[in-house]
Amino acid sequence: MTTAATPEQPADAVARLRATFRTGRTKPLAWRTGQLRRLRALLTERGADLATALHADLGKSDTEARRTEIDFTVREIDHTLDHLEEWLRPESAPVPAHLGADASAWTQVDPLGVVLVIAPWNYPAQLLLAPLVGALAAGNAVVVKPSELAPATSAALARLLPAYLDTDAVAVVEGGVPETTALLAERFDHIFYTGNGTVGRIVMRAAAEHLTPVTLELGGKSPAFVDRDTDLAVVADRLVRGKFLNAGQTCVAPDYVLTDPETAAALEPLLKDAVEAVYGPDPQAFAGYSRIVDERHFDRLAGLLGSGRTVVGGGHDRADRYLAPTVLADVDPDSPVMREEIFGPILPIVTVAGLDEAIDFVNDRDKPLALYVFSESDGTRARIAAETSSGGLGYGLPLAHLTVSDLPFGGVGESGMGSYHGRWSIETFSHRKAVLAKPLG
Ligand code: NAD
Repeated sequence: MTTAATPEQPADAVARLRATFRTGRTKPLAWRTGQLRRLRALLTERGADLATALHADLGKSDTEARRTEIDFTVREIDHTLDHLEEWLRPESAPVPAHLGADASAWTQVDPLGVVLVIAPWNYPAQLLLAPLVGALAAGNAVVVKPSELAPATSAALARLLPAYLDTDAVAVVEGGVPETTALLAERFDHIFYTGNGTVGRIVMRAAAEHLTPVTLELGGKSPAFVDRDTDLAVVADRLVRGKFLNAGQTCVAPDYVLTDPETAAALEPLLKDAVEAVYGPDPQAFAGYSRIVDERHFDRLAGLLGSGRTVVGGGHDRADRYLAPTVLADVDPDSPVMREEIFGPILPIVTVAGLDEAIDFVNDRDKPLALYVFSESDGTRARIAAETSSGGLGYGLPLAHLTVSDLPFGGVGESGMGSYHGRWSIETFSHRKAVLAKPLG
């Protein structure tokens, strides 16, 4: 049993879980749905503990913590419970004539074994629990490693998960680099990592030692293209809500706006209005506005504020880890704010001549995790869909695609590999075994 007082060594946890998996205990549908129901009970009975921890780590309001982390995960569980049996059903395949009419073929969905889930700090509950839902639903034993940069949430998960779930099949290992490094030396059957590309490479290298498959949910700069002749008041409202949720610390947040100079000029005052409409005249005093996770990220973000002309915001308070919702205009594509994923509440506006240049701008850079298009033109939307590559594509509404359980959520290129949510999690955490049967008679 894992207890907070005597943390279990990674090697012991993995060995214990592997022994459980070998008994076959995690395979029956009843065990899987039972664990999902226990996890659901944790979220409904102890959601307040998690919300308190999320507030301590990131200043998340109760409403936001419930909407984006706790209720989000409950919905993922409910969707999985509703469909799991159907997703696990063997699928038959047509058999070629040379095998005879009595031969049959199908795929069987097998669990992988013992999987490792490494979570980041920005949605520290959701991004640990949603992969856990998929891994358990697929019949695996699971080691989860919460982010040390969200210590209150990490502690809450380490306390609550063993109280609700089968402790011989689910282990929580807390810690930072040394603990994760020790975990990565173990052999897993799958590693699911969410975080940045630098650590993603470390994870993939470690996984290669054991030929372990990986899912890498990474980030990057997700552009928002705003076409001319669009309803800019609506665009501004949606950009502001998508960008400044969790103080911009969202992997699929619009990173920057890409538009033509006239549209940019028209958009500026509307973005200012939208920030005030959503966060009030003093966002620091607004309970629904999050804080920057730590001083290191605060200092990094404060250093990006000089990259353009401030349209709104710019204020900051290090002692409170507060950085105002900020919009920068006249931003040079080579300025510091455009050289890294912002991952904070700064929205630069970069201008291009038009659609052709916008498409080139996107294609000249790493493939983003999400690409947003605000345009009424079917032609423009179709061209961007056909001529760019991104993990997801959102027309008219940022972030929302990841709340659709039947859509795969994941990146491409520098923004990651593999995907999850709903049945896509079953694909990620299972092996589809090919089976052929030919009667002996
Ligand atoms: P983080 O610093 O919390 O790191 C993520 C995990 O990696 C943590 O559990 C941490 O302990 C571990 N880790 C850190 N250094 C390590 C090392 N040297 N060796 C082994 N493990 C190590 O989170 P982060 O990377 O700062 O998260 C932000 C990034 O994550 C952004 O790029 C963001 O876009 C991306 N992100 C992606 C998604 C997605 O779903 N695609 C979601 C959230 C965040």
